[in-house]
Amino acid sequence: MEHVSEYANPADIRALSQEIARRSQHPMRIMEVCGGQTHAIMRHGLDTLLPPHIQLLHGPGCPVCVTPARYLDQAIAIARQPDTIVTTFGDLLRVPSESSGDLFAAKAQGADVRIVTSPLQTLDIAQAHPEKNIVHLAIGFETTAPANAMLAFLAKERSRTNAFLLVSQFLVPPILRAICTDPTTAPDAFLAAGHVCAITGAAPYAPLARELNRPIAITGFEPTDILLGVLAVVRLYEAGRAEMTNAYPRMVQPQGNTAAQQILNTVFQVTDREWRGLGVVPQSGLALRPEYAAHDAALRFPETASQLPPPKIVSACPAAEVLLGKMQPPNCPHFGNPCTPDNPLGAPMVSPEGPCAAFYLHRPAPNATNN
Ligand code: SF4
Repeated sequence: MEHVSEYANPADIRALSQEIARRSQHPMRIMEVCGGQTHAIMRHGLDTLLPPHIQLLHGPGCPVCVTPARYLDQAIAIARQPDTIVTTFGDLLRVPSESSGDLFAAKAQGADVRIVTSPLQTLDIAQAHPEKNIVHLAIGFETTAPANAMLAFLAKERSRTNAFLLVSQFLVPPILRAICTDPTTAPDAFLAAGHVCAITGAAPYAPLARELNRPIAITGFEPTDILLGVLAVVRLYEAGRAEMTNAYPRMVQPQGNTAAQQILNTVFQVTDREWRGLGVVPQSGLALRPEYAAHDAALRFPETASQLPPPKIVSACPAAEVLLGKMQPPNCPHFGNPCTPDNPLGAPMVSPEGPCAAFYLHRPAPNATNN
């Protein structure tokens, strides 16, 4: 196949959904890990093509959704420091912090917050403004981590002493383990995110499937990719096999991207990490190694951390319930009214990868307000 549209061929989609129905005998709850997959499922109505006894759950793989509100508080506090520029991807701008509003409001009030499309643009800004501190908001999963690692690596190599990272990097396997600690709500199988596995490789997911005692299919993002992932876990589940299948071999190799892994291991080390609404999950994130401490914004601006409010696990937005697959977005009492993409109460309604935004855009509730 040469074109993306070929992965949305109606005849192939029909054949795959029929094969899934033929193979699936037992009720099954399948969690797609990545928010990009959630949006593809909603956009193409793939869930409606599955037998009614197969339920798709929408997982925690939306970077903006899991970035803690307190991180946003600290980012806003840093943005308000004199002679400071904060760089970020655009989808973080409207995510609510715990007590400081959002970055968009801070920008409107005069903070210098700039949208970049690559972390490396931060280096250019640092070079153009040597009199200022430039702080990049380094969030995301294994997919974004290599580019953020490269920013720290090059800042050190080029002695760009005014370039910093405020890091909130997450790892997928630890949160899958956390999800599986509650057997009453844990899914029966996972669709792992293909772009994450393109970095890490497929290999680590084979022992993870055995450890979690659940099938895992490494899955892509187009309609036939997702249905191939569903078919793969259905076949394994029906056979009673807790194994990993790579259903996205055109992008994911067993060993992954070794160059990306090398820069990751050079710059970052595994650490405990706070997840929005979930609290601290042990060994679930990445932090800068001590050799890169000179580029750690949390160390450069320690006063912004000491002013943070204590962690708040309970909030009006039950994002954690949604991101752990315990609640479908339309079952949230705030879904559609008052919570909408224009008036988000929580990150899952803000981000282009957020599950609540996916449902709102593609399956709006009858009581949804039209902002
Ligand atoms: S609908 Fe809004 S309030 Fe409810 S979980 Fe989603 S983002 Fe949070």
